[in-house]
Amino acid sequence: MSSNPRGLLFIVSAPSGTGKTTLVERLVQDLPNLHMSRSYTSRAARPGEQDGVDYNFISRDRFAAMVRDGAFLEWADVFGHCYGTAAADTEAMLARGDDVVLVIDVQGARQVRSRGIENVGIFVLPPSADILEQRLRGRSKDSEEQIHQRLETARREVGEFAEYEYVVVNNEIEAAASRIGGIVLAERARVKQMRRAAEKIIETFKEQRHHAQNT
Ligand code: 5GP
Repeated sequence: MSSNPRGLLFIVSAPSGTGKTTLVERLVQDLPNLHMSRSYTSRAARPGEQDGVDYNFISRDRFAAMVRDGAFLEWADVFGHCYGTAAADTEAMLARGDDVVLVIDVQGARQVRSRGIENVGIFVLPPSADILEQRLRGRSKDSEEQIHQRLETARREVGEFAEYEYVVVNNEIEAAASRIGGIVLAERARVKQMRRAAEKIIETFKEQRHHAQNT
């Protein structure tokens, strides 16, 4: 077994178009020992997306079988497609002491909390509804109807921010990524996480006194 403490589970939720995936990709590049969990989804890969990289793309039947087998830590139907986090993948990383970040919707986050699984929730907000709409239109391969659906869902989702431990406004990607990085580092410095490392240092003080007494 690893001598590291169990890793921390971070959850990042945000309305579609807020830029959370870019933010979290930046974060895992910058911080060692932080991994982004790769979700399973029943939706088809978009151009440029790769199976086993962006998502594990699976059929609806296989998704349903995984739900029946209890393979998911959480799962949800988002915009008509199923998305889920495999419990085994996450557990393996946490058990070896690595921190894991789940980029999941508010329904999934609620499931993790209601199952009593320890986590640190971060809600990312766009600076305003208008800016979110502009971003959705700007990036958009989405139809007008899809944009409306995403904005409607966003309106519901943003009301959940207070269920999370932290709120980060994504006004500018670098600044927002560094604020999330600050949250991760602060959580890592908690006594609960640092106890073993601190105790090792305390030992050196005892050894030093012991040497001093014997000389
Ligand atoms: P997209 O299809 O644009 O990649 O993702 C759509 C939404 O699904 C996003 O809000 C994203 O956070 C959410 N999502 C992605 N993976 C998961 C997951 O494993 N579980 C849950 N609950 N939501 C997910």
